Amino acid sequence: MPQYDYDLFVIGAGSGGVRAARLAGRAGAKVAIAEQVQIGGTCVLRGCVPKKFFVYASEFSQAFRDAKGFGWTVDWARFDWPTLRDAVQNEVNRLSGIYATNLGAAGVEMIDDRVVVIDPHTVRLTREGRSVTAERILVATGGHTTRPTTIKGQELGITSTDAFVLEALPSSIVIAGGGYIAVEFATIFSGLGVDTTIVYRGERILRGFDHDVRAHVQADLQRTGVNIICGSTIEDVSGLSHGKKLVTLSNSMKLETDQLMWAIGREPNTANMGLESAGVRLTERGAIAVDAYSRSSVPSIWAIGDVTDRVNLTPVAIREAVAFVETEFHGRPLAFDHADIASAVFSRPPIGAVGLTEEQARAKGHKLKIFRTNFRPMKHIVAGNDQRVLMKMIVDAASDRVLGVHIAGVDSPEQIQLAAIAVKAGLTKAQWDLTCAVHPTGAEELVLMGEP
Ligand code: FAD
Repeated sequence: MPQYDYDLFVIGAGSGGVRAARLAGRAGAKVAIAEQVQIGGTCVLRGCVPKKFFVYASEFSQAFRDAKGFGWTVDWARFDWPTLRDAVQNEVNRLSGIYATNLGAAGVEMIDDRVVVIDPHTVRLTREGRSVTAERILVATGGHTTRPTTIKGQELGITSTDAFVLEALPSSIVIAGGGYIAVEFATIFSGLGVDTTIVYRGERILRGFDHDVRAHVQADLQRTGVNIICGSTIEDVSGLSHGKKLVTLSNSMKLETDQLMWAIGREPNTANMGLESAGVRLTERGAIAVDAYSRSSVPSIWAIGDVTDRVNLTPVAIREAVAFVETEFHGRPLAFDHADIASAVFSRPPIGAVGLTEEQARAKGHKLKIFRTNFRPMKHIVAGNDQRVLMKMIVDAASDRVLGVHIAGVDSPEQIQLAAIAVKAGLTKAQWDLTCAVHPTGAEELVLMGEP
C-alpha cells in the first residue's frame, strides 16, 4: 500500500503548475493538480496571451497611418471592440482546453477546486470538503491584482483582469500605476482610440528598466497622445452620471473619465491557504520563501512561479517547474539560474531588455563603456512616422563583457531573445563585433555600435 494518495499534489494550474504536473506525470509519478478558476492561469487567461492580442489590435491604427506613406488608402478603417474581445476570449478558452488535454495525456488527475494546506502531506479540497495526502505538495498559486482599499470610491475602478472583458470600449481611461502592465494597457487603449491618462507616483514610468529606455518610451507615449502625470497619486474617486468618474489627484487636479483602471501591482496568492500553520515561512511581502531548488521551509512543500515573487514572468515559472521535476523525479538536482533573464514590455515603442541596466552595473562597482544608438527605422521614414529606436549596450570596461542590452523600438521583444543568448553566454563586445551584420535591418545596429 502506498503511504500517500499521490506522489505529487500541485495547487494551481497556471504556467508553473501545469508544466510541473505534466512533466512529473510523464515521469511516471501519480499526480493531481487542483485549480480554483480555470486551467491556464494568469498568463493564458488574463495576462500575457490576451494582452498580446490586444497589443496587436492597437497597433493597426498606426499601421493604417503608416500605410498612407506607402501609397495605400485606408479611409474605411473602423474598430469594433466586441469582435476583438470575443475573438480573444475564444482563443484563450481554446488554449485552456489544450492545457487540459495535455495534462490528461500525461495521466494527471485534474481537480476543479480551491485547495488549502492542512499539514506537510495533506491538502483539503474546500468545495468537495475532503482531504487527500501527497508525498510532495507544490504550491503554484500565482498572484492577484491589488486595489488601493483605503481610497474612497476605489471600487469604481477596474483591474487588468476586468479590462479583457469590458462590455464596451471606454471613450477615456485613467490608469493608475507606472509599471509594465499600466504602460502596456495605456498603449493598448490609446492605440484603440481611447483618450488615455497615466497617473503615477514616481518621477518617471517603468521603474527598474534602464533610465534611457524609460525616458525614450515615456516621451514616445506622450508624443503619440498619452497624457502622463508623474509625481502624483489618486486620492479620491466619485461616480458621476452615465457611469463616468471624477478622479481627484494628490496635486489637486481633477480628471473626469469614462473608466479608471488600477495597475498598482500584484501580490502572491498565499492568504487563507493554511501555509503558515503548516510551517511554511512567508517573506515580508507574503510570498513563499524558497531555496534555490524552490523548496520551502517545510521539506515536503515546494513553491514555484509568482507565489514565490522572484522574477514574475511565465518562462521563469516554467523553468522553475522543470528544475523542480528534474530534482525530485529524475534524481538530477537542478537550480534554475535567475541571472540575465530577458524580458519585454509591449509598450509603444516596445522594450526588450536583458542583463544589467546602467544603474545596476554602476551600483555593482563595474567601470563601464556605454554604447548607444538612436535612429529612425527605415520603414518609418517613408511612412512619415517619427517613432525612433534606442539601443544601449552596457559593457564592463575591464573584461569587455556585455553586461546588458536594452532596446526600445519596433521589434525589440523579438531581437532581445537572440541578444539574450549572447549576454547569457558572457560574450565580449569584441565577439559581438565579429558578427557580420544582416542588412537592411534594425537589429544590425547591435553589431555596428563602434564608439562608446
Ligand atoms: P498563475 O499563472 O497565476 O497560476 C496560478 C493559478 O493558481 C491560477 O489559475 C489560480 O486560479 C490558481 N490558484 C490560486 N490559489 C489556488 C488555490 N488555493 N487552489 C486552487 N487553485 C488556486 N509574463 C510574461 O512572461 N510575459 C508577459 O508578457 C506577461 N504579461 C502579463 C500581463 C498581465 C496583465 C499580467 C497580470 C501578468 C503578465 N505576465 C507576463 C506574468 C505572468 O502571467 C505570470 O508570471 C505567470 O502567469 C505566473 O505563473 P504561475 O504559474 O506562477 O501563476
